[in-house]
Amino acid sequence: MGEDMAVVIDGKKISQDVRDEIREKTLRLRKERGIVPGLAVVLVGDDPASQIYVRGKKNACREVGFLSKEFRLPSDTSEKKLLDVIDGLNRDREIHGFLVQLPVPEHIRTDAIIEAIDPRKDVDGFHPYNVGRLFSGNPYHRSCTPAGIMELLDRYEIEIKGKEAVIVGRSNIVGKPLTLMLLERHATVTVCHTRTRDLAEVTRRAEILVAAAGNPGMISGDMIRGGAVVIDVGINRLETGKLVGDVVFADACKKASYITPVPGGVGPMTIAILLRNTLAAASVLLPG
Ligand code: NAD
Repeated sequence: MGEDMAVVIDGKKISQDVRDEIREKTLRLRKERGIVPGLAVVLVGDDPASQIYVRGKKNACREVGFLSKEFRLPSDTSEKKLLDVIDGLNRDREIHGFLVQLPVPEHIRTDAIIEAIDPRKDVDGFHPYNVGRLFSGNPYHRSCTPAGIMELLDRYEIEIKGKEAVIVGRSNIVGKPLTLMLLERHATVTVCHTRTRDLAEVTRRAEILVAAAGNPGMISGDMIRGGAVVIDVGINRLETGKLVGDVVFADACKKASYITPVPGGVGPMTIAILLRNTLAAASVLLPG
């Protein structure tokens, strides 16, 4: 690849395309089977970032014609009370998918909350059932951010099979599930983290490089193999208020064949996949 050759992957457009498709399918589902997909979001406390995410999810539901329900609970809500709300949503026939916005306050056990969600309604894909099924294939739901990355690769017709993929970051919500999704599609996957000895030596091998560390500018141009596909998952707010990824974008553009910008790359895909998971739950008569 020559200078400034990278194709900038337009996550905003792809997210809109996916949501347009969902809107059409929702209309059909309603007409043909009388089903309106329902998504509920539970928010405990008043974390400002969580409030923004919840509002975004509600607006997205409205845009595609879903029923949306929102449960706002005070920050001193007991774990028992939250489990009761989850139990109610597990039984709610109008609701096909729901999530508890994370993080929850410290006195509530995150694992207990996630495990209480019916895996068929776990549209975030965080329940151990869905995570476990990702190992052997065919979960009810795949977690949204890594599934969104796979969607971007597919829509840009980027070949995955046989490719050297390197993921920087091993979190439960991005790095680990993405590892499994890339493996499933026959990539050779290496996962790096804070204890990786020579990070640059590993990233330079990547034909598909995913940065999901949450560390602004940690991937410099010299860490990127010429012609690599660079997926920047990081969302970091600088002191100036500017939003940046984990990759030095301008330098990476000179080395990569494809690159996702921040913002407007991976970010917009998460909600699109959340909606798609909910539509799938509403469309399919899941067992049980
Ligand atoms: P996390 O903090 O849970 O995990 C970060 C991972 O990166 C860890 O495994 C850590 O070992 C690794 N890491 C951190 N610094 C490193 C370094 N210097 N060298 C090597 N490895 C390093 O983070 P997360 O929740 O997975 O999120 C990662 C980033 O992605 C954040 O910026 C977050 O805001 C962003 N994110 C974006 C979306 C989205 O686009 N919708 C969704 C989730 C997370």
